[in-house]
Amino acid sequence: MATAMAAIAPKEELNPFEIAKQQFNRAADYLELEDSMRSVLRNAKRQLIVSIPVKMDGGETKVFEGYRVQHNIARGPAKGGIRYHPNVSLDEVKALASWMTWKCATVGIPYGGGKGGIICDPKSMSKNELERLTRRYAFEIAPIIGPDRDIPAPDVYADSQTMAWIMDTISMVRGHTELGVVTGKPLSLGGSLGRPEATARGALYALREACKVKGFDLKGATVAVQGFGNAGSIIARLVHEDGAKVIAACDSKTGVFKADGLDVPAMLKHKEETGSLVGLKGVKEIAPNEVLEVECDILCPSALENSITMANVGKVKTKIIAELANGPTTPGADRVLEDEKIMLIPDILANAGGVTVSYYEWVQDMYSFFWSEDRINHTLEETIGKAFHNVFEKMMKYGTDMRTGAYILAIDRVAEATRVRGIFP
Ligand code: GLU
Repeated sequence: MATAMAAIAPKEELNPFEIAKQQFNRAADYLELEDSMRSVLRNAKRQLIVSIPVKMDGGETKVFEGYRVQHNIARGPAKGGIRYHPNVSLDEVKALASWMTWKCATVGIPYGGGKGGIICDPKSMSKNELERLTRRYAFEIAPIIGPDRDIPAPDVYADSQTMAWIMDTISMVRGHTELGVVTGKPLSLGGSLGRPEATARGALYALREACKVKGFDLKGATVAVQGFGNAGSIIARLVHEDGAKVIAACDSKTGVFKADGLDVPAMLKHKEETGSLVGLKGVKEIAPNEVLEVECDILCPSALENSITMANVGKVKTKIIAELANGPTTPGADRVLEDEKIMLIPDILANAGGVTVSYYEWVQDMYSFFWSEDRINHTLEETIGKAFHNVFEKMMKYGTDMRTGAYILAIDRVAEATRVRGIFP
């Protein structure tokens, strides 16, 4: 009986909000954080669920479900993206909102954490349908968003056009143009130079520091990139420009591999023209998830949650992982990677470039004074470089992994702000 029980492996927890709690608790234990502070920091401050009726092109009306969660506002207004995906759930949005709180605190920008999402399949919707969906969602969450309350931005399958529609809708409702209500806007509407590539650029700056620690050059290093959206495709380009060899990449449909380095500009062009990596010439086709198992120096999971789990972590053969996606690695896989001495730059640091340049955009909007791209990139480099070393110091001090080091840094900052503010009333 005991043997039969032992043969059944315990099922790994894949609910993102449960995972976020495990990550939080691990760091809170190191900090010996009191129980009352733990419950304040673990729970979301506000969760809004909205029904979004949309007239579809065919004439029928479909009702979508959307969310906006504000996890914490101790250090400033809530901040975080909006995701359009069939697998969006309230628990996922809650996890993503809490990761935003820790992300903003890790890099020291004056925001709390928020996130939004709509359960929908944006790939099967027309541009007009997406516009109506976005505008009605913006209208429904209007009571809780604003430049000094909660500032949305793009996340998976949302872009600068989505932000323009939200900005316009909120401006119509309020009766004046409200530039700072969202970030990631088009340049013509108060967007910032450098914002589209900021997530990947932040990861590049973190990777340069990580390579120094690990003692090898990014130039000549081999890189595998899982996911080819905004984050994945741009990190492929940036490391390629730094002289690294991108040997494997994938989007949701296919994976591509070339041992002596893929032609990154050709890949970007093919993706731009055809919408996917399918049919790319001169490469070996592999399954998308095989990209995670390719032997390389640097692995960049840049898609969705739960990509590196107990099911495949044993096959990961790399030196550094930079999490451009949010939540791509499960806690079980974290422990294995730590034992294997694989350096994992956690999402709340590796992909924090996006929200950091969102912060610069918001500041520029408030001052109506716009910076050069050089100034944006240079300030980002300083912010990410400093955060990397702050996280590294915490990791060394507590003898733990980098994710826990980042959480220790972030939780300590948010707990301190909460203590000084006190609990209302
Ligand atoms: N969606 C991005 C993230 O997960 C950016 C959020 C923002 O710019 O507010 O970090």
